[in-house]
Amino acid sequence: MDKDVEKIIKEAQEKLEKIADLKLLDQTYIELFGKNSHLNKLTKQISNLPKDKRPKAGQTINKAKKQLEKLFKETKSRLITHHSSLINPIDISAPGKKDEIGHLHLVSQAIEEIVEIFSRLGFYLQSYPEIDWEWYVFESLNMPKNHPARDEWETFFVKSDPHAKYGGQVLTPHTSNGQVREMEKTKTPPIRMINISRCYRRQIDISHTPMFHQFEGLLIDKNISIPDLRGTFDFFTKSFFGPDRVTRLRPHHFRFTEPSFEVDVICDICKGEGCRICKSGWLELGGAGMVHPKVLKAGNIDPQKYSGFAFGWGIERTIAMKTGLGDIRLLYQNDIRFLEQF
Ligand SMILES: [Zn+2]
Repeated sequence: MDKDVEKIIKEAQEKLEKIADLKLLDQTYIELFGKNSHLNKLTKQISNLPKDKRPKAGQTINKAKKQLEKLFKETKSRLITHHSSLINPIDISAPGKKDEIGHLHLVSQAIEEIVEIFSRLGFYLQSYPEIDWEWYVFESLNMPKNHPARDEWETFFVKSDPHAKYGGQVLTPHTSNGQVREMEKTKTPPIRMINISRCYRRQIDISHTPMFHQFEGLLIDKNISIPDLRGTFDFFTKSFFGPDRVTRLRPHHFRFTEPSFEVDVICDICKGEGCRICKSGWLELGGAGMVHPKVLKAGNIDPQKYSGFAFGWGIERTIAMKTGLGDIRLLYQNDIRFLEQF
């Protein structure tokens, strides 16, 4: 029996080595394991053997079957590999495929640039909660409860148990909640903070998204006046938008600054003449002003000793003004064809 088995395996091995075709391999399978195979004939002979020799003979045949199956599988995988290499030959002379390299999102690029520009003036980066107490968002900024000025902020309120002093919680509609928080933290000026954070308002159109980024500057020290504010804006706009972009201040009203201004940057397209994009020759950058004494008091800073200015501008808006982007919603559509252009 052992010799017969050895012979079967040897013959199968020689046959399988020569096979170069998957169809032929299928035929060989029948020859090896089918009804008329040598192996099957041997199996049938087991019952003719004396009882005590049957178990060993059974074991020998099973072992041989396993060995043949292994040989068969090896041959099959060799043929498949060879076959696919014929269909998809590797062209070693073809140029390699390079991995595509991405870049930071426009908003992240702008944040990095803004932080760098203000750091040259001694400002440091700070960030404060995006969900904050009403007191930091409104009351501490001179907007008492039930004051109509609160309505302008289109606030998202968060379900929470109200605090006796701080009130309820809101998604911050601006970054000015960081003003009094920074005063509380620093205790004694000077303060030169840039606070960059996500803000949330119920608004959506080509120049507004419900979530946007704002950067807020707060400078408090002795003898700070409007010319310091102007100089800071000029430095920023010339560094960020280009040396020929001048700013102007328009009187405005905010509850937390006095006096208050809207800051405009001259239009890059018409250079102040007035065009389809800007209409008046100027583009609005954002709000600014001298910090209101009541806000300083809310942050435990003596308004007799110290003064300062604050400003809050949208990152997306500055990107739109710099790049000529007509619809800021494009920034959040994750369209690679758009993002690749920057
Ligand atoms: Zn213009």
